[in-house]
Amino acid sequence: MTVEARDASDGPAGERATAAGELAELAESVSNCRRCPRLVAWREQVARERRAAFADERYWGRPVPGFGDPAARVLVLGLAPAAHGANRTGRMFTGDRSGDFLFAALTRAGFANQASSVSPDDGLSLRDLWITAAVRCAPPANRPTPQERQQCLPWTVRELALLGRVRVILCLGGLAWDAALRLLVAAGGPGARTLRPKPRFGHGEELAGESYALLGCYHPSQQNTFTGRLTESMIDAVLQRARELAGLGR
Ligand code: SF4
Repeated sequence: MTVEARDASDGPAGERATAAGELAELAESVSNCRRCPRLVAWREQVARERRAAFADERYWGRPVPGFGDPAARVLVLGLAPAAHGANRTGRMFTGDRSGDFLFAALTRAGFANQASSVSPDDGLSLRDLWITAAVRCAPPANRPTPQERQQCLPWTVRELALLGRVRVILCLGGLAWDAALRLLVAAGGPGARTLRPKPRFGHGEELAGESYALLGCYHPSQQNTFTGRLTESMIDAVLQRARELAGLGR
């Protein structure tokens, strides 16, 4: 199976504006979601108690919507917001070390205009890329339950449907890879079915499908980047591969 590589200039500007409006409506709905009692309690507790370094800040403390270019060809799928990162700032991968590493890489790859990602009004913009997560509320110990992952899946299905030009889903870590496999089945489309045996996650692993290609990348967590499990050159190579699969120029 192959992934169709389309010219990035196709699609009228009107479509982009419509998608942007619908994505904004989706973000509003997502940010009011209270489907998972355990996660609602945790995200709000973290927001009340705060970390000492952010004691003067008002935490977001709600579900974190995806963000980026409504005409994105590449979707970056993380697992969930970090308690004192996105759960504090209200934007995915914003305000923590994982984000520092990720946005530096996205800037080198031509997907972002700046490496700094500290708050929703910091001037960051993405091109050809959208960032979201399989679970939109910060979970205790960064571990959402299978039920919580399932409950959040419909939001991702809706988001993907609105991002009509996405061709590549870049999965940050094994749990995001698993979520993407479930997403493809839930999103339907030609040939959508649960694959057996389950395709294994790995850094640089690829899975080509009728509508989307999945691409694996180790998560840019401090645990991975500080230990050298994920280096700059490793993530750069994956992002270049994402550009190729999406039909984007280098
Ligand atoms: S994790 Fe998803 S489904 Fe659960 S409360 Fe948060 S936004 Fe809603």
